[in-house]
Amino acid sequence: MITVSELSKAYRGFTALDDISFTIKPREVVSIIGPSGSGKSTLLRTLNLLVLPDAGQITIGDESVNAKNLHRININRLRRKTSMVFQHYNLFRNKTALENITEVLRFARKLGRKEADEKALEYLNRVGLHDKASSYPAMLSGGQQQRVGIARALSLEPEVILMDEPTSSLDPEMRRGILKLIAEIASQNITMAIVTHEMNFARDISNRLFFMDQGKLIAQGTPDEIIHGHAGGRIDAFVNDFEI
Ligand code: ADP
Ligand code: MG
Repeated sequence: MITVSELSKAYRGFTALDDISFTIKPREVVSIIGPSGSGKSTLLRTLNLLVLPDAGQITIGDESVNAKNLHRININRLRRKTSMVFQHYNLFRNKTALENITEVLRFARKLGRKEADEKALEYLNRVGLHDKASSYPAMLSGGQQQRVGIARALSLEPEVILMDEPTSSLDPEMRRGILKLIAEIASQNITMAIVTHEMNFARDISNRLFFMDQGKLIAQGTPDEIIHGHAGGRIDAFVNDFEI
């Protein structure tokens, strides 16, 4: 269970997150939608404390941090509850596909070399890349690099996987493959929060959609409630720009 209450973040006086509260239940898949600049990335980055909040509380499982009380040890503990898939993959260029995964397993999870190798191979297999273990990112297509990013996030076996526009850097053909992979993962009882502009995908795989605008979480509901709910104003205007 993830509980966020009254979360706020400003960048030099500019409010990027404005009093955000929500819960995400175990095994729930939530897609975060909304216009560019509405605070979607900031919200995900605050959930794993890459960005530190100015106010509010985040609880993931049995770990909690409050903006008033940000200690390194609590930050690290909460961070271990999450893993992130990035738009630009964020792979180490000088490490193979396998090493990109074993590196985090060994240093963030303290696994031994053999255990890390086994787990990394298991997850590369799961994303269809068992034959690319020793390839460097430069030798892989964008879609394959994102598969490594997804395998790495899965291998950490976190309470929640956070994905920030995981298909935005890909051309349409590869995008389809990655959307299919994420849909498969979503159906496997993994808790996920995904920022995406892929409205059909979001509708199909999500238990709920969160709609953000100008730093506020202005609506949360089932895909049907958000897309066909005629909430009016900004949401209808946004949703109507997509052919659903
Ligand atoms: P989204 O992901 O919805 O496009 P972001 O969370 O990236 O939105 O950004 C929300 C707002 O915060 C934007 O206006 C953006 O310019 C601003 N912002 C994001 N990161 C920073 C930063 N590191 N410093 C200053 N402003 C930022
Ligand atoms: Mg963003």
